[in-house]
Amino acid sequence: MANIQNWDLIQTNKTNGTAKLKCPVCTETRKNKSDKSLYINFNSGVAKCFNDSCNALFFKDSVQKSINEKNYTLPSQQWINYTKLSDALVKWSETERKINQYTLNYFKITEEKFYQPALNKEVNNIVFNYFEGDILVNKKYRSGNKKFTQSKNGKPIFYNINEAIGQDEVYIVEGEFDVLAFYEIKIKNVISIPNGANDNDNYWLNSEKYLKDVKKFFIATDNDESGNNIAEKIAQRLGRYRCERIRFVGKDANDDLKSGVLEKSIYNREKYPISGTFTSEDLIDKMISLYDSGLPSCIEVKNSAFGNLNNIFKLMLGHLCIGTGIPSHGKSNFTEWLVLNYLLENDFKASFFSPEHLPLELHYSTFCEKIIGKNYFYDIQGTPKINKLELMQFHEWANQKLYLTSPDVGEFATWDWVLEKFKEQIFSFGINIFVVDAWNKVEHTGTKTERENISKTLSRLTMFAQQNNVLIIVIAHPTKMPKENGTYLKPTLYDVSGSADFRNQTHDGFCIYRYFGDSPYTSFTNLKTKFKFQGEIGQEVEYGYHLPSGRYYERNTTPQDYNLIDHLRQQKEKITQDYEIENKIEPATLNDAFGDVNDINYCPF
Ligand SMILES: [Zn+2]
Repeated sequence: MANIQNWDLIQTNKTNGTAKLKCPVCTETRKNKSDKSLYINFNSGVAKCFNDSCNALFFKDSVQKSINEKNYTLPSQQWINYTKLSDALVKWSETERKINQYTLNYFKITEEKFYQPALNKEVNNIVFNYFEGDILVNKKYRSGNKKFTQSKNGKPIFYNINEAIGQDEVYIVEGEFDVLAFYEIKIKNVISIPNGANDNDNYWLNSEKYLKDVKKFFIATDNDESGNNIAEKIAQRLGRYRCERIRFVGKDANDDLKSGVLEKSIYNREKYPISGTFTSEDLIDKMISLYDSGLPSCIEVKNSAFGNLNNIFKLMLGHLCIGTGIPSHGKSNFTEWLVLNYLLENDFKASFFSPEHLPLELHYSTFCEKIIGKNYFYDIQGTPKINKLELMQFHEWANQKLYLTSPDVGEFATWDWVLEKFKEQIFSFGINIFVVDAWNKVEHTGTKTERENISKTLSRLTMFAQQNNVLIIVIAHPTKMPKENGTYLKPTLYDVSGSADFRNQTHDGFCIYRYFGDSPYTSFTNLKTKFKFQGEIGQEVEYGYHLPSGRYYERNTTPQDYNLIDHLRQQKEKITQDYEIENKIEPATLNDAFGDVNDINYCPF
């Protein structure tokens, strides 16, 4: 059990940042009385003594209180009554898992009778007790035949989270036994995701304060497809620049412990390269995979309403894109329509920072209109108003997909603030796409010239997109455009206010331009794509605008009138049905299964 101490014992005037001090608990009893073994993080409100025989943990009052906040039901804290383990369990653990009794005791593993829903009865279980500080916040029950259940409404958090506090490096594994396996080779700074290979926001949110200052993560999830998928998602949240992937020889850490190779296999590491200097050796794996699987993947939009767009313009994760257009020509609307379709068609999440579109609920209503295909407020042009059921359907979808960012009332956002928020959102929610609408609504800090500020911010944004493998779309207004024959000229990236760097530094860019008159339409123009395979600069696609829903559709076609969530579900169901029809397995006949059953001499065994 962690040695939890009172925060007030820490004597210092410092109130933010981090510090190393002498430990108030163990210094008196130590030979080296000047060792600064206590690491303190004032911002997170946690401290830890790195003297092994002390191991004291300190939590600020506010942090201690937050452990037991709001909506969770903590298990009974009387767990200690159960700590005597049966011989059978200890023997099983030592022979089957190579985990010895000392380790089981160290992690406060217990053995309890508990109802297993999958078995529909109460059975004996090995129990992983989840501690945050000295509070038991959750329990996971594993039966002899590998069924799992957990405390009802317990607090989701990484297993062994206390050991991540104050560490520069942390290993992340996919099961509690893997944490125990690492301990067998004397590595303690290991945490496990709580629910097998699921990825949900809550345990990330609850663990954030303990993990945000860690410098390096070794992602040691299972060596199989689902382990690879979860590793990708973890790296995405933590920032690829501070992650490395560990490849086990067997399936997981416990496997490699059993085969005696764990001490070696934890050095079998792959970087998630992002930027910097690389040799051919660093790149050879990627070059082979590029050779085998072709060009890097762009995000293609599948919805036919976009017409020819994929042929002239495709975006990519890791890029910065600038969208421009004359005010009221529809650049925000088109961007939102495009991003919503990306979200529908891919396993992506997006965050919008759109101070020009407040209040937030009004902004959300325009997303709802585009998804449902109707107007939020009125029956217009023969299209009925959205009903409450559709509103709830949108809510259910958007709740997992769409995040809005807004500074506090009266505050003006700076780029420092925006990027800090984005970093938090990548961690807490796993965001892949960020939209900033618009550039001029975010302030620069410092005293440089406007030109220098623009250049610096654009470099930060491109770097951020690359490092985190996210797409950032920034909407930027052009300078006042000159007129030709009474109409404004179409802006290019050189016309974006302030600097030619908007053309030079961004990866990609587009312009939305509206043609007025008797048959008005909107054009999308590729102003820049970094790579040839992304499209063709200067090409355009023409769209009509459906006023009730705010959707765009290929010019001179009929706008889609359906709800996109329903439509997508029907398409998925159809694909599954077609697959089942094509791959239908005919039941075996008696003869197929057992040979000639009429042959009295026939014996299958
Ligand atoms: Zn100490």
